[in-house]
Amino acid sequence: MKKYIMSFDAGTTSARTIIFDKKGNPVSSAQKELLKFFPKPGYVEQDPEDLWSKQLGTAVEAMSKVNIDPTEIAAIGITNQRETTIVWNKKTKEPIYNAIVWQCKRTAPYCEELRKRGLEEKIKEKTGLVIDPYFSATKIKWILDNVEGAREMAERGELLFGTVETYIIYNLTDGKINITDYTNASRTMLFNIHTLDWDDELLEIFDIPKSMLPEIRNSSEVYGKSKSKYLGCEIEIAAAIGDQQSSLFGTGSFEKSMAKSTFGTGAFLLMNTGDEIVDSKSGLVSTIAWAIDGKITYALEGSIFEAGSCINFLRDNLRIIDQADDSEYMATKVDDTNDCYFIPAFTGLGAPYWDQNARGTIVGISGSVNKYHIVRATLESICYLSTDVIEAMEKDLGFKIKSLKVDGGMSKNDFCMGFLADMIDTKVLRPKIVELTAQGACYMAGLAVGFWDSFEEIKENMQIDKEFLPKITEEERKKKLDRWHEAVKYSMHWAK
Ligand code: ADP
Repeated sequence: MKKYIMSFDAGTTSARTIIFDKKGNPVSSAQKELLKFFPKPGYVEQDPEDLWSKQLGTAVEAMSKVNIDPTEIAAIGITNQRETTIVWNKKTKEPIYNAIVWQCKRTAPYCEELRKRGLEEKIKEKTGLVIDPYFSATKIKWILDNVEGAREMAERGELLFGTVETYIIYNLTDGKINITDYTNASRTMLFNIHTLDWDDELLEIFDIPKSMLPEIRNSSEVYGKSKSKYLGCEIEIAAAIGDQQSSLFGTGSFEKSMAKSTFGTGAFLLMNTGDEIVDSKSGLVSTIAWAIDGKITYALEGSIFEAGSCINFLRDNLRIIDQADDSEYMATKVDDTNDCYFIPAFTGLGAPYWDQNARGTIVGISGSVNKYHIVRATLESICYLSTDVIEAMEKDLGFKIKSLKVDGGMSKNDFCMGFLADMIDTKVLRPKIVELTAQGACYMAGLAVGFWDSFEEIKENMQIDKEFLPKITEEERKKKLDRWHEAVKYSMHWAK
């Protein structure tokens, strides 16, 4: 009797496995921290073997903790850190270099060169992405250009490229299945979001042989079975989806104009745009939300580089809070920020400002500003930046969002979520289960194997913990946002 779905959450800081029951409740989980290497400033790498072996380790541990027999698992769904690039030898299955992590900036000079060559428009038109070291294409090229003999091997068809889900599936099946899904493909900068295939012209621009690339499949589909030696029996592998898209699905944002924000270290806002590819005029990226039964759903995405990390900054650098939770009680000790603004531009500002020379700033300090005002200003700043992204989305789309679902560590902060509802003038919904990233992949896998039959059935599992409604007047809202926009200007162009 199949009772569970096993979800692999192959993240950046840790590998996790969560096992869910038919009601979508987590029944067991295990987690292992991943190794990370910083060989030079701005370089970020991981060990592919470490990613794979720890992922497998957590799967075994999660089952044994509560005595689940592998035959009770209906399917495995995988969600993963996106864009991280692994290249390995087809014959030996050995990686030829470390995984280059999405955060790695080593290809910034090459990205600058692409911009100078006037390729920005073409790349955006085809891929929906802005030229940035973030995406996989320039990382693959770096490996081919810098690892001895790599280019010749690639040209002879001896190398394979994959993002983390591809590598895990390849290993789980001893190299039998070499696939990615549409969401992960859409983050490589080699995938054309209109033709829904690898793009030959882009492959030529980046000088990457097509033979390296995996086959692109639905996010929810039975790709094949894991080898029984790994988990104790063969289990169907039935979903692969990028982490942010997975949490969009996990929040139940199934319809056009539904949006979610994950408030972790940074904040990732995604909006379901249905079957429409929105050409953003505000620097947001268009991406694939998921593919089910060959039907593609698109999304618009905006990221905020610093969110929860600002709370860590208050704790570790300024030492004005002892732990993240304290920020809520401290912010509510005062009625407002005393006209003080915190601009968390530690590494520049993203959409819609796009100023990589902006730096963190506190403006409006007077003799009566105390630590409570600064804590409050910090929490409010994440809400203001989120509002800027939401307003950019609404401008691109020409309509207002219906609601915003939230997850991630910071979403536990009631003050912050209430203030966010006021600023975006839309209700903010916090689901009961906060493991939404893993849950999205779990639902995708469950749908593929008939564990659940429809979106409707899944929706019944989704419960809201708390609803935050906007409660200030439009005049008050506008006044606060105007003042924020004035404050932001003081942080800009500083590092130049
Ligand atoms: P990630 O997945 O990026 O590691 P998490 O979703 O685990 O992040 O969230 C962790 C972040 O949330 C930390 O930066 C932490 O400071 C912040 N955080 C946790 N609890 C709170 C809280 N009550 N208020 C504000 N921030 C919080």
